[in-house]
Amino acid sequence: MEKVEVLRQYFGFSSFREGQQTLIDAVLAGRDVLGVMPTGGGKSLCYELPALLLPGLTLVISPLISLMKDQVMALQNAGIPAGCIHSAMSVEELREAYRDTRFGAYKILYIAPERLLTDDFCALAQELEISLLAVDEAHCISQWGQDFRPSYLKILDFLQKLPRRPALAAFTATATTQVRSDIVRILQLQDPVTVVTGFDRPNLRFEVLRPQDKRRALLELLEERRDKSGIVYCATRKGVEQICELLQSSGFAASRYHAGLSPDERRQNQEDFICDRCTVMVATNAFGMGIDKSNVSYVIHCNMPKSVEAYYQEAGRAGRDGAPADCILLFSPGDITTAKYLILNQTENDELTDEERQAVQAQDLIRLEQMTGYCKTTGCLRGYLLDYFGQPHAPRCENCGNCQAEYDLQDLTREAQMILSCVVRVRTRLGYCVGTALLGQVLRGSRAARVRELGLEDLPTYGLMRDLPAGRIRELLELLEAGGYLQTDPVHGGVDTTPQAAEVLFHGQRVEVSVKRQPLQDQPARGRAKAKAERPKKAEDDLLAALKALRLRLSQEQHIPAYIICTNATLLDMAARRPRTIEELLEVSGIGQAKAERFGDAFLKELEHYEQTHGRNAP
Ligand code: ADP
Ligand code: MG
Repeated sequence: MEKVEVLRQYFGFSSFREGQQTLIDAVLAGRDVLGVMPTGGGKSLCYELPALLLPGLTLVISPLISLMKDQVMALQNAGIPAGCIHSAMSVEELREAYRDTRFGAYKILYIAPERLLTDDFCALAQELEISLLAVDEAHCISQWGQDFRPSYLKILDFLQKLPRRPALAAFTATATTQVRSDIVRILQLQDPVTVVTGFDRPNLRFEVLRPQDKRRALLELLEERRDKSGIVYCATRKGVEQICELLQSSGFAASRYHAGLSPDERRQNQEDFICDRCTVMVATNAFGMGIDKSNVSYVIHCNMPKSVEAYYQEAGRAGRDGAPADCILLFSPGDITTAKYLILNQTENDELTDEERQAVQAQDLIRLEQMTGYCKTTGCLRGYLLDYFGQPHAPRCENCGNCQAEYDLQDLTREAQMILSCVVRVRTRLGYCVGTALLGQVLRGSRAARVRELGLEDLPTYGLMRDLPAGRIRELLELLEAGGYLQTDPVHGGVDTTPQAAEVLFHGQRVEVSVKRQPLQDQPARGRAKAKAERPKKAEDDLLAALKALRLRLSQEQHIPAYIICTNATLLDMAARRPRTIEELLEVSGIGQAKAERFGDAFLKELEHYEQTHGRNAP
């Protein structure tokens, strides 16, 4: 069979996405490959499709069991023989999986890295014809990555035990050059065909908000999205508990997920979310790596994450089906303190030596600083993210909170002169730079013990901004940093002036900054939500709603997640095409042979019913 036929028949797609064809061709030609594509870019297809055309077995290393189970279920549902081996399986299940593998029942076998070197599996591997070893989430092999897993290093030992080295295919969404070169070096990829595709996700709209009251802001945002599915991320378990309670008591079908819950509850809650029994998942970053749910239409962060990589990966769980989706970050300066605390008190990874841990921490603090920059920038948010991943882009995307925001030009020359000279004087007096909290105290003329102990009371700038609230001074400090007049040391947090500040202090340069209007604060709480809710429901939504309801029913009857039956993008395409026969149904994006056979009749019947009640020419 030709690869295009496999694409159509098994996966139901009519064309490849960017990068897929090059990678698939290389894999089929027996080459090693490295695929760097954003989350949702379609990395799995690059090894799943060749697996069907190559002789023997394709082995896939994947870090998370939930991820694995999901993928295997999706493949089986598409009529592709796939299995998995991981530590959450019973002895009986494992025995069965080994037997099936030995008899060649699978074309694709997923395995957790820590199982590779078990005696049983090593012995079995000797007998198998392994054509391809695919390493998913390959950044886990690098200690510079955000998710270092020492068990990934076992892949090398495993390869050495094989009678013949299969082709290696590594995939990741982490694009920093250091991680990329680590993957090639540590996995010893041989002259790999490397494809780095665009990191842009045009259907995602990015926004950073600074609400006075995050809880209220969150409720407003969700009110506008009641009929949609989404994820709300919090930095801590306690945050998850509180927000989940808040949402439930406001009538949202919310569930929760964090590492402190029992495995049973986590499994149950995750399933409720995936099967759309609950619409909002409130979670820590422990949630999501294995979640390929395609109809997540918003991801809201209640706290700033620790790095741009982490943010882009978490936010990227929205809009996988290509439909418009929102990625909103609710920022407050306190988030920086929380994130620093989490970095300095990290205990998750006790596989590291002290030295490794220190190196990782220093790296983490620099990443945090870059993440903070995202929250503070007044430039294009998409541009900021793409810059981070080293990808060229247009100066403005016109689809982010900053490009669309209204700005007020504020003349801050006087305030800037006061603040900048205070920074200089404190530094001269102490011989080192101090953080924003202490600077604020000096400017406000605080009687705090620390100010007195350091002898800062008799500085001429002491109490210069006595009349301003602490929050306003903090805001001004941030504006001056965003404007390039101040810089913060990522490790110690000390604030210092930049050369540009000298222009203001000594050469009379004016300071005018554009200050974003905060959408959630300018309008009365109810106004926004109402305006949306009253929009007349379009007739075409009826058909989509009917198809979704059918999908939910099938999912409940057959105990498979709704998105594995088909994605929202598929339902949208189906509603637009309105197929009447199985042949026409196969034209719908995402419907392959197996799905058409299994669910085709049900969908066709629903479509027919719609036409009978609405007429063929109904909108
Ligand atoms: P990731 O790169 O994050 O691993 P996935 O492999 O999970 O991404 O793919 C994300 C989504 O894109 C899935 O729903 C998948 O079915 C869909 N997809 C992959 N390739 C194509 C294609 N060629 N045409 C249409 N949809 C595709
Ligand atoms: Mg993936």
